[in-house]
Amino acid sequence: MDDADPIGADRSVTTGIGIDDVHRIEFDVDWPPGHVAAYLLETPELTLIDAGMTGERAGDRLEEALDTAGYDLADVAHLLVTHPHVDHVGQVPRVIERADPTVYAPVGVRERLAREPDDLERQVEANATAAGLGGAERDGAIGMARDSLERSRRLLPPAAVDRWVGEDGSDSVTVGELEFETIPTPGHQADHHCFETTIEGERVLFAGDTVLEPFRPVLLHIGLDRGVEQSLPAFERTLDRLGARSIDRAFPGHGPVHEEHQETIDRDRRSLRRLTEGVASRLDPENGTTAAELARERVEDEREFAYRLPEVVSALARLEATDRARRSTTEAGVQRYRPASVE
Ligand SMILES: [Zn+2]
Repeated sequence: MDDADPIGADRSVTTGIGIDDVHRIEFDVDWPPGHVAAYLLETPELTLIDAGMTGERAGDRLEEALDTAGYDLADVAHLLVTHPHVDHVGQVPRVIERADPTVYAPVGVRERLAREPDDLERQVEANATAAGLGGAERDGAIGMARDSLERSRRLLPPAAVDRWVGEDGSDSVTVGELEFETIPTPGHQADHHCFETTIEGERVLFAGDTVLEPFRPVLLHIGLDRGVEQSLPAFERTLDRLGARSIDRAFPGHGPVHEEHQETIDRDRRSLRRLTEGVASRLDPENGTTAAELARERVEDEREFAYRLPEVVSALARLEATDRARRSTTEAGVQRYRPASVE
């Protein structure tokens, strides 16, 4: 960032926040890269961005980290949430109970958490069947969707949210003396938002699960709910939106704080192309191939399968929409894809 940038200079003078005053709090999770990060900064009121993993141990970790930084959990005045995944909203109840902060969450979460569980189950059942899941696997997918809805409602009760980010088309939020641009960034999760601001003249992005340095985030979007095939185009729009921004430093939810904004976006674009091309190359011209078969080929760890399935479904929809694959549906409702070149 140009040092002469008057907006950057003014803002950093106004708030007096230094880039080194952004505290990173890491919580253990048992999936790669083994941690999730939340961030603490003074705006000058104490502000927490995301709230770590769920569970007692993570709660203790949060309190310890605040203590080390010279604060008490009760001092948290603002809590911003990038998206309602368990490793980002895990300690929201504890923070609310102890500190009663102003809570900011993406507006889409309000409707999503109002989702009727029976309708969700029916939709997931249909999409899981279409993807080629049967029996216990399909039941598992349905159970996972229902559990996820229940857990999100418990961890981030809509009644506890004070400010809905992005409501009525707004694209910024003022927290203390700091103004954050709020950027809709779906794909990893449908309601995901990033928060961009200026600190010490640097444009910084509180990125949640975008622009991760170690790897592309999984396109979970809305899981196997209605609109599952939208995860790929949604994430492409996110990459375009973030790629148009000049960001000096990213504070992501996983992996290190970094200055590789464009590099991570370019890598994610390449990764999406590889996903689509990889799926295209694996279609069986004779028998056709299901999303579940393709997703299974793409994971080493069985736990990963459920998270990879929506992005494969979405890649297949892209291939069909661009006349590269043909879909046929069996009597049981299973969708099989063949290369479009083969009649
Ligand atoms: Zn996430």
